[in-house]
Amino acid sequence: MWLRILSFLAFQGAGALAGWWIWHWPGACAGAVLGALAWWLADLARGLRVLRRLRDGDLAALPRMRGLWGEVADRLRRLQRGQQRRMEDSERRLQDFLQAIQASSNGVVLLDAEGRITWCNAMASAHFGIDIERDHEQLIGNLVRDPAFAAYYAHPDPARNAVIAGRGDSAGRPVRLAVRLHPYGEGRQLLLSNDVTALEQAEAMRRDFVANVSHEIRTPLTVLTGFVETLQSLPLDEAERGRYLELMAQQAARMQTLVQDLLTLSRIEGSPPPRRDEWTSAADLLAQCEEEAQALSALLTAGQGAAHALHFEAAPALALAGSRSELLSAVSNLVSNAVRYTPCGGSVRVACRRLPDGRAEFSVADTGPGIAPEHIPRLTERFYRVDRSRSRETGGTGLGLAIVKHVVQRHGAELRIDSTVGRGSRFAIVLPASRVRSGPAAVSARA
Ligand code: ADP
Repeated sequence: MWLRILSFLAFQGAGALAGWWIWHWPGACAGAVLGALAWWLADLARGLRVLRRLRDGDLAALPRMRGLWGEVADRLRRLQRGQQRRMEDSERRLQDFLQAIQASSNGVVLLDAEGRITWCNAMASAHFGIDIERDHEQLIGNLVRDPAFAAYYAHPDPARNAVIAGRGDSAGRPVRLAVRLHPYGEGRQLLLSNDVTALEQAEAMRRDFVANVSHEIRTPLTVLTGFVETLQSLPLDEAERGRYLELMAQQAARMQTLVQDLLTLSRIEGSPPPRRDEWTSAADLLAQCEEEAQALSALLTAGQGAAHALHFEAAPALALAGSRSELLSAVSNLVSNAVRYTPCGGSVRVACRRLPDGRAEFSVADTGPGIAPEHIPRLTERFYRVDRSRSRETGGTGLGLAIVKHVVQRHGAELRIDSTVGRGSRFAIVLPASRVRSGPAAVSARA
């Protein structure tokens, strides 16, 4: 400020001196006025320069100046830099925020007060088939046509989900979305979507499973209760009592097998992946299966004619990495099925061999009734049966092949089923080469 006053006085003084030299006192007065005018014009020119740069928003290009205008320009420059930093900061924060919403596994759509789409993330595009370039400002109700959505949109409730069909939904490949609307701002709405297809399928499977288990248990339980009532209410002779007790024991055994299979399934599902350093001899596995098969065949064919011809080929010296109990359970389920479904006099052939590519194959072939091709893809579903009565008669639970499938998956193996109706079936488990070891040392390797 002092500099400004001094420069003004200097201009005036210089004007007065020059005027005095030309025309004494009148000249000095006129010189002082002209000096003040010159100072004011120079000051105005500097002020206008600052103003012009400020209008162009280009204060950085303004050369450094001294005095009041220099300070004004400096302060404005600092103010502009601060504002720019704040803008960059909020832009960065906005980008971070948008990236986080883009990375979300939920679909997010922003709707204005009329229900027009103003923004959506990639997941929402996939869920609803929205192309944000094309569909910007489109009414959401025109794009999502599911009646369940229309009903929910008419009466939105942020505390409740509506489940609607997603993009690409079809009878064979359902896509289910849970959507929810949240109001925000002035009449705006946030539409959140979540893919619940797997959840809904798991829930449906759980319901089916509970219904199936209840049904499987209810049947023998009803029979048992009926026999108990008969025994309690009717005067039976010793032979009749014995027959009823025998039938009751059969039903109890059926329930026990079912519970055992259910426990096996849940144990397999809940246990950690099978180890790669637990080695089991293939020959030992087959020997145990052979014992079980002979006992089962004797039981099923007792008093019914010719027994089964069981052929267990000598297993090569192979060791298999994985859970011994699971592998045994899988192979013995296949052998037990072959024996149970093959009529008396039929043959069952069980073998283990190493394939040329290093994998090992356990195969169980029978001369039973065979299975029609349309049933084969569903055989490993829980409680799926082709021959319901034969399964029940022979103590089947409908869970055997589901157990086999789980064991096979957990060991990275493959289940192969070949069958011809009227000629027989061949089930094979092919274990990956990484789980197979040959040589004499392997035979005794049992961790
Ligand atoms: P189950 O306890 O009823 O035998 P599984 O899951 O082991 O249940 O088998 C499913 C169905 O596959 C059986 O009910 C049966 O109809 C059919 N099946 C399985 N193995 C054979 C086989 N070797 N020959 C003919 N049908 C078979």
